Amino acid sequence: MPYGSLDTVGILDNVLRTGRGIQVECTGCPGLHRFTHDEIAALADKVGRDYNLLNRRCKCRLTPGCEGWNRFFFLSGVYRPLFTPEHSVRWGR
Ligand SMILES: [Zn+2]
Repeated sequence: MPYGSLDTVGILDNVLRTGRGIQVECTGCPGLHRFTHDEIAALADKVGRDYNLLNRRCKCRLTPGCEGWNRFFFLSGVYRPLFTPEHSVRWGR
């Protein structure tokens, strides 16, 4: 499925309308989580449907005590980074 542009693919409204797969992977542990539609909907209720997952990360929530970062990926054939190479460099990964 074509996704248009990286700038908009991670907007929660788009994710919900297209049912696109979103997952997080951790930089510090093998943790991985695929979001369900309900989880994305709950997030949208909290932060708004205009919220964009692009270049966002959060402290690991997958493994207790892990100091890594959870980063978002979106499904387009395979899971692709929902962050730009420039941002990845800024994060030091
Ligand atoms: Zn982790």
